[in-house]
Amino acid sequence: NEGNYQYNIAELAEKYGTSLEVVFPFIIEQRVEELITTFNHYIKHYKYKGKFYFHYPMKVNQNREFILPLITEGANLETASANELWIVKRLWEQHRFNSRIKVICNGPKTEQYITLIRELRDQGLDIVPIIEEHKELEQWSRYKGEVGIRVNLSVKTSSHWDKRTEQFGFSPTQLAELGRVHNLAILHYHVGSQIPHANDIIAALKEGLDVFTMLRKSNPRLDTINIGGGFAVNYEKKKTYTVQSLVQRLVSVLSQYASMEGNVAPHIICEWGRHIMAPAQMTVYKVLMQKEITNGAAAKKWYIIDGSFM
Ligand SMILES: *Cc1c(COP(=O)(O)O)cnc(C)c1O
Repeated sequence: NEGNYQYNIAELAEKYGTSLEVVFPFIIEQRVEELITTFNHYIKHYKYKGKFYFHYPMKVNQNREFILPLITEGANLETASANELWIVKRLWEQHRFNSRIKVICNGPKTEQYITLIRELRDQGLDIVPIIEEHKELEQWSRYKGEVGIRVNLSVKTSSHWDKRTEQFGFSPTQLAELGRVHNLAILHYHVGSQIPHANDIIAALKEGLDVFTMLRKSNPRLDTINIGGGFAVNYEKKKTYTVQSLVQRLVSVLSQYASMEGNVAPHIICEWGRHIMAPAQMTVYKVLMQKEITNGAAAKKWYIIDGSFM
């Protein structure tokens, strides 16, 4: 349902055939709006001095039907490869964005990726490469815009894609040895996806703020902390937090941090991708064949569908 309108999915499937992907742009808009409004609410409530920005991770879905509604609601973007930045370039050239939009560039900086970042920056896009390894420090040492740096925090989360596999970024010890980094404005981390417990997300922010304090000693331009993705979609009913409860805790930790002698109030960025996108689409298949399962398994039926999986 959208307002008082009701979509008839069966009718769409009959009209267009299956398999059929249906997108609900108004859900994308609602979710981005809820996120931004909630952050701004608690920022006001705690009289917090920093600002909130949402950056949409392009890897979640790159179709324009998904991206344009996000942009409409004030989302910025995050890319992980030259391919994704190429899509941003095409949309930008079609005058789809206003020029205040900001793009954060993660991922390995290939020649092609670096060239594209520089080209878009020269055309006036606010584009921030995130440095992930030592060799990138040299690559961006004369860059005219802001840069970010990625830390591989030591907190453990019980998430999908966690520390056992994730190897992007510098350890906090390595960062402590870096000293000044040219035009450093953003500290970035991403501790995992589908994080079931708010405590893990809060623990990561606290460790991130320790690293932030340490980096600011030699990098006074550093003013933003980017907490990455991780907001879980409740596929298996394991999630123990809501947007309201989590955002309140995040802003509360930030404002406690900012109230301490010598600290500033960092701007906060999040990149909660699947939280925004997962409920805004469905795929409709036709059942081609079905068989009873008689050997006592939990599932009772075996379906073959017109979408190459079962
Ligand atoms: C995958 C990824 C995200 C999005 O994660 P979700 O779990 O979808 O919120 C955000 N930032 C980075 C750097 C990522 O790699």
